[in-house]
Amino acid sequence: MIYDHTQFEKDLSFFNIELKEDQKEQFNRFYELLTEWNSFMNLTAITEWDDVLKKHFLDSLSAVRVLDEIRFRKWNVIDVGTGAGFPGIPLKIVFPDLRLTLLDSLQKRLDFLDEVVRQLGLKDVELVHGRAEDLARSPQMREHYDLCVSRAVANLSTLSELCIPFVKKGGVFLSYKSEKSVQEAEAAKSAVFLLGGRLEKQDTFQLPDSDMTRTLFVIRKVQETSKKYPRKAGVPGKQPL
Ligand code: SAM
Repeated sequence: MIYDHTQFEKDLSFFNIELKEDQKEQFNRFYELLTEWNSFMNLTAITEWDDVLKKHFLDSLSAVRVLDEIRFRKWNVIDVGTGAGFPGIPLKIVFPDLRLTLLDSLQKRLDFLDEVVRQLGLKDVELVHGRAEDLARSPQMREHYDLCVSRAVANLSTLSELCIPFVKKGGVFLSYKSEKSVQEAEAAKSAVFLLGGRLEKQDTFQLPDSDMTRTLFVIRKVQETSKKYPRKAGVPGKQPL
């Protein structure tokens, strides 16, 4: 297949991102693996090249709008509920100095990601299987990360309880949400506060050359999270703070 990056490159220029040839090849191979594995396991409903570029790759990279430092910091990043690798893998391709942990509760998705990491030759990527509620209590992972990212996993109150415990004091939890989530954010205010976070920035925008709207919430960790959180697996979803 011949891959056309013209539009992708144009869209990325809005984020001041320029791809090298080897990064383009990594995106091509990631797309091939995604569609190949998607034929026998449920990874994504989006499979056309142009749609994957926009709705998965470009969307994942939109983080630079609110976190410009990601371009030059060797951050420890965790992607909670990464699924088929979004937003973690596109961020790692474009910013190879990041040290990335991909966490998911479904082993099959991690098997796919293991293959992606191997075939793309990505370094400093760790795959972790389990529920965020359990892993955020492990001494190796709790308050260990400069940045936690998460897309399409839970409402913002629940997600804050899954994600903020992983972030070190001074670090950031970045949540990829839809425009409709502005009310969700209002409801999540007390949860964010209880977990030691503060909503620092909120950015609603349209992805370049598309009708897709995205809202990014930047939550800064200002205090250690109380040992009470996260509660037992399943509780943050059933009884959001
Ligand atoms: N982030 C990806 C994306 O945007 O395409 C995947 C989104 S998918 C809808 C949600 C993913 O979160 C699934 O792969 C699921 O297994 C994972 N997940 C849900 N709850 C989780 C939890 N408590 N701990 C770890 N992973 C979880």
